[in-house]
Amino acid sequence: MRVFNFAAGPATLPLEVLQQAREELLDWQGSGMSVMEVSHRGKAFIACAEAAEGELRKLLAVPANYKILFLQGGGTGQFSAVPLNISTPESTVDYINTGSWSKKALGEAKKYAKVNVAADEAASSYTTVPEQSALKLTPNAAYVHYTPNETIGGVEFPYIPNTGNVPLVADMSSTILSRPFDVSKFGVIYASAQKNIGPSGLAVVIVRDDLLGKARPITPSILNYTEMAETQSMSNTPPTFGWYLSGLVFRHIAGNGGVAHIAKQNEAKAKKLYDAIDSSGFYKNPVAKNCRSWMNVPFTLAKPELDKTFLAEAKAAGLVNLEGHRSVGGMRASIYNAMPPAGVDALIAFMKEFQRRHG
Ligand SMILES: *Cc1c(COP(=O)(O)O)cnc(C)c1O
Repeated sequence: MRVFNFAAGPATLPLEVLQQAREELLDWQGSGMSVMEVSHRGKAFIACAEAAEGELRKLLAVPANYKILFLQGGGTGQFSAVPLNISTPESTVDYINTGSWSKKALGEAKKYAKVNVAADEAASSYTTVPEQSALKLTPNAAYVHYTPNETIGGVEFPYIPNTGNVPLVADMSSTILSRPFDVSKFGVIYASAQKNIGPSGLAVVIVRDDLLGKARPITPSILNYTEMAETQSMSNTPPTFGWYLSGLVFRHIAGNGGVAHIAKQNEAKAKKLYDAIDSSGFYKNPVAKNCRSWMNVPFTLAKPELDKTFLAEAKAAGLVNLEGHRSVGGMRASIYNAMPPAGVDALIAFMKEFQRRHG
């Protein structure tokens, strides 16, 4: 039986996509093989890879002067790839710190460049985002990095920082494809796949052409944007299954009204859940209202001693993986694109019933 899976990542995938993958698993496009067993250099797979890229380009309206790369190493690989590709050891690189993932990104960047922390939301325990006017940006920084959606804290920027001529780099792992945005405001966008795209291991990178050709000589080939752009992300064997499945997810979004439609659905799902939490007098979300995430909703119970009971009863009701991240405790409901509205409705009904019995 399928459950409603609220995991933060790897996360739930659209049922129709999984069904299609199952149907064609043993015999992909009449090859007599699965897509995992065909050559990545064969005509069929190259067409599949190009179609996925084209579909994503359409979904996000990616301008022609940006390359889309399908790389390995997940989001974490990009924490190194970004400084290696677009900064020098002497560069200052600006990082906006809004929580766990920003912290990891800037920690990695410190190995490769001089990191300036342009804002740090420690004072609010990472429940806020800085105002544009509070950013202490370095005029000649190689780039400014931020995390539009903090997957663990459930904090999402309501605006895109303005960095003038300095390239803006975004880790969109847990927000890409959740709402439309203007790609042309960014120098580099990257996302690990296992939240809103497909299987883990894959990272999608969208990089502006003028940032190519700047990689340090020591940059590993598989993280080198220029090399990967020149080889259509096939310097080596790409993660073929992940790429194929991501293509199915892109097509599924396109066939269901595109990103604009899914954004409306996401906003409605999140609003319902936050409203239920705020009006309960039992559940609490700590994040400032202007920057609450549409994708990851952490919440605590008024009686934390009931956490284990909550999780056990939720699981019995078919609502799984609601445990908060080990670093923060409490609960977290990740409600990515593929979480149907019915899943959020079921969670809210369960929470009400749980409060009635235990509150
Ligand atoms: C999940 C996540 C990552 C890490 O992705 P991996 O594929 O595990 O390396 C990085 N940044 C954010 C915002 C994430 O949500």
